[in-house]
Amino acid sequence: MNPKSKLNLILHKVQQYWSGNAVNQNKGMVENLQRYGIIQSRKVAEVMETIDRGLFVPNGTPPYVDSPIPIGYNATISAPHMHATCLQLLEENLQPGMHALDVGSGTGYLTACFAMMVGPQGRAIGVEHIPELVSSSTENIQKSAAASLLKDGSLSVYSGDGRQGWPEFAPYDAIHVGAAAKEIPQPLIDQLKPGGRMVIPVGVLFQDLQVVDKNSDGSVSIRTETSVRYVPLTSKEAQLQG
Ligand code: SAH
Repeated sequence: MNPKSKLNLILHKVQQYWSGNAVNQNKGMVENLQRYGIIQSRKVAEVMETIDRGLFVPNGTPPYVDSPIPIGYNATISAPHMHATCLQLLEENLQPGMHALDVGSGTGYLTACFAMMVGPQGRAIGVEHIPELVSSSTENIQKSAAASLLKDGSLSVYSGDGRQGWPEFAPYDAIHVGAAAKEIPQPLIDQLKPGGRMVIPVGVLFQDLQVVDKNSDGSVSIRTETSVRYVPLTSKEAQLQG
């Protein structure tokens, strides 16, 4: 083989490696989200680089494309730009040692990101009402960089109705709701710490992503960040009926 075709072959192999390698594809997804200004901080970029989205989607689906993907049971894993938006909005409330609650944790992706951010001294709790998703999300997390946090107990996923929150580890600095509520469930407001922040989609057909900040006197300030479309926060029976 002449030197030129040898060089071409090497270049081809290098290209193949970069495009076929999950770590680099996940990094490419993060870089795109940075380029579009959705990821604005180093910390959010780092956590999304560390938790490979490819470990959380069903086999055979394209994990690094910016769209939601069905995960069964009439649920979806949110699009990467929604995960990034929520992580950005909650960043200040996901510092080491803090408590975070992820309602409707689905695949466990965001719960794993929360756990990485609050670290081993903190608490990241996922609540999901489909027991099969609780099991599969636990398996996903076990394959991810958050596995040791699941093992040491600072990250847990529970089966239950997330509209009731999870009082055991309240109050929370950060609450994320991954399904759209008709109205904000009172138990979630009650379980938010003064200074804490909740991000929750609210509405039926047309939904607003609302940011709920609890003030030091216990009152709440609510603003709308953007329009969104999520699956409903509902009963297990209603969800399975479709
Ligand atoms: N953030 C998750 C979103 C999954 S979709 C992810 O990206 O993987 C929303 C999830 O909310 C579904 O898994 C659905 O089963 C769950 N859900 C809906 N209503 C719920 C309720 N009342 N309690 C707990 N989980 C609920």
